[in-house]
Amino acid sequence: MELTDLATIRALCEKYDFALSKGFGQNFIINPGVPAKIVDAAGIDRRYGVIEIGPGIGVLTKEMAKRAGKVVAIEVDKRLPPVLAETLAGFDNVKVILQDVLKTDLRALVEQEFPGMPVAVCANLPYYITSPIIMKLLEDKLPVENITVMVQKEAAERLAALPGTRESGAVSCAVRYFAQPRMMFTVQAGSFYPAPKVTSAVVRMDIRPTPAVQVPDEGAYFALVRAAFGQRRKTAANSIAAGLKLPRPQVAAALEAAGLDPRVRPEQLTLEDFAALDAALRQGAGQ
Ligand code: SAM
Repeated sequence: MELTDLATIRALCEKYDFALSKGFGQNFIINPGVPAKIVDAAGIDRRYGVIEIGPGIGVLTKEMAKRAGKVVAIEVDKRLPPVLAETLAGFDNVKVILQDVLKTDLRALVEQEFPGMPVAVCANLPYYITSPIIMKLLEDKLPVENITVMVQKEAAERLAALPGTRESGAVSCAVRYFAQPRMMFTVQAGSFYPAPKVTSAVVRMDIRPTPAVQVPDEGAYFALVRAAFGQRRKTAANSIAAGLKLPRPQVAAALEAAGLDPRVRPEQLTLEDFAALDAALRQGAGQ
């Protein structure tokens, strides 16, 4: 069964009385070259256990099942497991879990399902929750080697953006802190059914053995990063003062103590700058 074939998708929809849901971000891959390209980008082979988020009707799942040791696919739409039972029949290394990925204990899942195996996350993500999923994958500190995801091109650019450059945001800082991201390739809207309005792109994030900068309190560090980007088009000082409920002069003094211009914009700050600013705030500069 060729799952990238529109006729196959329509027949499955009819048979299982299934209509694609916009609400769940269902845009299925119909370009036959794309699944293999994504799995190539993820560097998955027989040694690997793979977590897939949102298998849909299984087009990417099938490609991974052919090449990985084991695949665990987490799907939230309860109408899909019966479809997947048919489309993935014949693969004994795939398990489908009916669950919301944001409510899944992924650490426990990795320990249970993939003991002793290198693990990767690979998915064509539901675009409406790209950032929450990425943040969860990173903050859960999963013992995974890499996370390879297809997302909207603009989201991909933010994931891969180097902190301190124009495209960067809070999510770019989180990605770069935990991982080394790489933009792999773009995929045109016509490669999906239904076609989304935007171009997509695949990003691979290789998880670092240790974070890119050392900070005393990760929670406080990311609270600072989030606050800095909390108010678009404001200076970092104003956003941080508002977000962390600190007097503005105190934040300005901390920026100076960290060797930074008090008028700096958040996207101009590197991970090291945020660490220096965090240290200055901690030492009570300006109080
Ligand atoms: N992997 C398929 C493909 O590439 O053709 C489908 C990708 S589609 C863009 C996103 C998938 O994620 C859908 O199957 C959707 O039902 C599922 N999904 C949406 N929200 C989810 C959530 N919170 N947890 C798990 N899966 C979710």
